[in-house]
Amino acid sequence: MNNNDLQQRGHRVYPNLALNIITRQEHSVSRQLISENALKVLYRLHGAGYEAYLVGGGVRDLMLGGTPKDFDVATNATPEQIRQLFRNCRLIGRRFRLAHIMFGRDIIEVATFRGHHQEQNTQLSVQSDQGMLLRDNVYGTKDEDAERRDFTINAMYYNIADYSIHDYAGGVEDLEDRLVRLIGDPKTRYREDPVRMLRAIRFAVKLDFDIEEDTAEPIERLAYLLSDIPAARLYEESLKMLQSGYGLETYHLMREYNVFEQLFPVISEHFTPDYSSNTEHILDLSLDSTDIRVEENKRINPAFMFAAILWYPMIERANKLVEETNINFYDAVMEASNQVLDRVVKRIAIPRRHTATIREIWQLQLRLPRRNGKRAFRLMELNKFRAGFDFLKMRGEVEGGEIKELALWWDTFQSAGRNMRQAMVNDLNQASTQKPRARRRKPANKKKSKTES
Ligand code: ATP
Ligand code: MG
Repeated sequence: MNNNDLQQRGHRVYPNLALNIITRQEHSVSRQLISENALKVLYRLHGAGYEAYLVGGGVRDLMLGGTPKDFDVATNATPEQIRQLFRNCRLIGRRFRLAHIMFGRDIIEVATFRGHHQEQNTQLSVQSDQGMLLRDNVYGTKDEDAERRDFTINAMYYNIADYSIHDYAGGVEDLEDRLVRLIGDPKTRYREDPVRMLRAIRFAVKLDFDIEEDTAEPIERLAYLLSDIPAARLYEESLKMLQSGYGLETYHLMREYNVFEQLFPVISEHFTPDYSSNTEHILDLSLDSTDIRVEENKRINPAFMFAAILWYPMIERANKLVEETNINFYDAVMEASNQVLDRVVKRIAIPRRHTATIREIWQLQLRLPRRNGKRAFRLMELNKFRAGFDFLKMRGEVEGGEIKELALWWDTFQSAGRNMRQAMVNDLNQASTQKPRARRRKPANKKKSKTES
């Protein structure tokens, strides 16, 4: 295929991008800020005669003077050729075939330049009725690769051959103007891949940029297209949106664009015009605390966030079940947990290990009030006690009253010494014997009570 053909194909769907080369002298990106592993990969590809560029968020964040969280590499070597160059290489991906070069836990992602799609090429690329790209394995030139990228600020290439930066879509200017701007016609680009709507919002918040007008305009109207995205991909995206350090603000911007309800209809049913429901309150609290933990480099568990933001919808469901079917509250919570999680995972594929933890955290909410005898001591030894307690504290802030007092009790109990703990439990025991209880007098098992005392 000659260059003319390529250009013509490019013209059909995409504007002709003008390449602007910024030489090493004209930009401030220093190799010292690029990870050693990324440099190794770039140099090895270059040494073997291939083109090799740092692309995407890595270049963008370096240009902004930040530290990128990962480095992506683009090359004209095919996945097979890449594999032959690196022993520590794994080929992954169906939708996009990519090479992962593994350096222990650090992974450098290497992608072969992608090309445009031709209708006749059904083996390699598949489009849905809505215009969505289902399979996308056409290799192409670097120019085509640039046109296929989402935002102008993500289409800059750092060339390891001469340390220049190749800016295809005016990314440098948009960085200066602090704008998230799609390359090409926004509606077409969102139809090709609706996740780009989520990415626009995510980058706007993370970089503190505005979404350029034409890029922002169709989002509200096209948000419904997100329902066609596989649940596994939406799960990954939702974590990037909510657990990468800017969750609170990202959630609020998602709401402004009516996008949040596409991901979490179960939750958005509990939204109010003035953001005043318990669900909205706990969303703010849990996202804020996640953001702080990310900032402090603490571990974050997605299960905790999901347990928090789905709690009130689950409880409301449980209360309905009690009303409608006459089962006890404990069973109703179990059943409502199933129903709510089943509904959620259809849209957002939360992995099983996390839904198990969500259930545990929820069940603990039913157990934490019951502290008599040895119960409190035993509860504290449970694996998920800490998460259950942290969640109780958060509920205390939302609900106040008894729950707040209960959380305070547990707070004191944990920091108290042995004797003090025993005294706290004794107090509870006393309080509960003073209360008139319906079935107090069951025949005591003498043997057992002897060994216990
Ligand atoms: P970060 O890693 O900081 O979240 P990033 O821009 O590196 O941001 P990645 O998801 O790592 O985002 O993607 C790397 C690059 O691949 C992007 O910068 C962009 O050029 C391209 N890209 C990713 N997703 C898409 C998409 N859905 N459509 C078009 N291009 C995409
Ligand atoms: Mg990246």
